[in-house]
Amino acid sequence: MRPLTLRTVVIGLASCGTIVAQSPNDADRIRLRRHLSPSHACVPVSLRHLVQTVADQNRQSLRPDMLSSAGELQPLTFYPIGGLLDADVFNGGFVDLNPAPGKWFDFQCGPNTRDTHGGTDTEIRGFDEQAIGVPVFAVSDGTIVFAQDGFPDMNVNGGVDGNIVGIDHGGGWVSWYFHLKNGSVAASVGEQVIAGQQIGQVGSSGNSFGPHLHFEVTQDGVPYEPFAGPCREGDSGWAID
Ligand SMILES: [Zn+2]
Repeated sequence: MRPLTLRTVVIGLASCGTIVAQSPNDADRIRLRRHLSPSHACVPVSLRHLVQTVADQNRQSLRPDMLSSAGELQPLTFYPIGGLLDADVFNGGFVDLNPAPGKWFDFQCGPNTRDTHGGTDTEIRGFDEQAIGVPVFAVSDGTIVFAQDGFPDMNVNGGVDGNIVGIDHGGGWVSWYFHLKNGSVAASVGEQVIAGQQIGQVGSSGNSFGPHLHFEVTQDGVPYEPFAGPCREGDSGWAID
C-alpha cells in the first residue's frame, strides 16, 4: 500500500478552494454546465474496447493473489476528482442509458449525455487549474490493470488515445479515468491501490475538448451508471452522500 501523494493535493488548495472528496448526491446537486463533447462521446467505443482488451491481458498476466476475488462491485467510497461539486468542479455529462443508436438519455431521463457516452464527465474551471494540478482519486480499492501516460494534454478539439488509468475491482468490474494530465499518472500495472489514493491529475488528453475527467465503470466492458434516478432504477452506486 502506498501513501497518498499529498504534494499535489496541497498545491491544489491554492486554486480550487477546499479540496475534499465531495459527494455527487445523485440528482439533488447535479447541474449541467456545458457539454465538452459537442457531437459524440468523449471516449469512443472503439477506444473503450481497445483499453479493455489490454486490461484483460494485463489482468491475466498478474498473480491471482494480486487481484480482488470480489464478485460484486462494492458501493464506490470516494469521488474520483478533488474539489467541491458545483463550486470547483462540475458534472457535464453522464452515461447514455438509451441503447437505441443515435438517441440518448441520462439517469434522470434528461439529455445530459451523448450517444454511447459511457461515463461521467466532471469539468474543472480551466487550463490554469490543470497546470496547478487537480487530483484524481481511486473510487474503490483495487489493482491497476491499465496505465498509460505521455500523451499531449491541452486538447480542445478532440484527439485520440490519451493518458488513462484502469483499476480492477474483481468480478469483471473496472473503473476508468480518462484524459489525464501528461506526466501525472501515479500508478503502474499490478500495483494495488486503495479508495482515495491519488492515481493522476485532471487533464485534456485524448478525445477531449477541455480539462475534465471522464470517469467510467465497466463490467466486462459494458458501462455502468453509478448514479440512480428515474431512468436508472435501484440503489445508488455511490456509498457517499
Ligand atoms: Zn466523457
